[in-house]
Amino acid sequence: MKLIRQITDLNKAISSQRELGFVPTMGSLHKGHASLINSSKQKCKKTLVSIFVNPTQFNDNNDFKTYPRNLNKDIKLLKSLKVDFLYVPTVSQIYNNKKHKITRLNKSEKILCAKFRKGHFEGVLNVMGRFTDIIKPKNIFMGEKDYQQFFLARNFIERKYKTKVIACKTVRDVNKVALSSRNSLLDLESFKKAGKISLELIKLKNLIKKNIKDKKLIKKIKDDLIKKFKIKIEYLECRNTIDLKTNLKNKPFKIFVAYYLKNVRLIDNF
Ligand code: AMP
Repeated sequence: MKLIRQITDLNKAISSQRELGFVPTMGSLHKGHASLINSSKQKCKKTLVSIFVNPTQFNDNNDFKTYPRNLNKDIKLLKSLKVDFLYVPTVSQIYNNKKHKITRLNKSEKILCAKFRKGHFEGVLNVMGRFTDIIKPKNIFMGEKDYQQFFLARNFIERKYKTKVIACKTVRDVNKVALSSRNSLLDLESFKKAGKISLELIKLKNLIKKNIKDKKLIKKIKDDLIKKFKIKIEYLECRNTIDLKTNLKNKPFKIFVAYYLKNVRLIDNF
């Protein structure tokens, strides 16, 4: 694996690569990231992983500061997965180019996380555009775990570039908690709660499948979860996966949730 820190070295290393798979990450890697990498290795000739904790997508500076960082451990994992290139840029390398304008979300896109994390997706799309310009990958691999992020990034990237954005299934722990770098911030009690909440949400999805017209169900379960687990739920919503609208008729759908366990914010979808 070639570890690259400078943009000039990156250009040299990948200039002749026509079929690059790109897996953008913020590091603190786990089996969810590994599954994206394995998909890329299957579909593309070479795989490039980036580790970059992108400051512009954090709406809370404390969250940015405390975001888990583990570069040495990450490098070991990436070597064992036989990744071809690892790119670890500095903030100034990525943001020096003034050409990139900020893409604002339109009103209908300001739902779910976009409603609660002001400027978050603008930061995500901005950094995705910058990486795509530099790397020019054939494919970008993203996790369904962050479905809204995948949805917005796919629309944005495929409109502007030839690159295709591919969704990969969410990897879960045995207790059904979606793997996430932020899980390392949870204490044992919170982690167990997260498992129970996942099970409740899987049950809810099955109930909704059977009673698609019951609009009160989701509100009832939301209230029950708040009471039972003493948690703050930012949102719990059911939306179709085609356009993320609330119309479910004849469309595949997911339950989207964002909630806090103590001060750790988790998101998931089922
Ligand atoms: P992050 O490092 O959290 O920014 O995530 C980098 C990529 O990994 C994103 O496309 C995420 O959606 C994806 N990802 C994170 N957790 C999982 C998971 N449990 N299963 C599948 N993909 C994931």
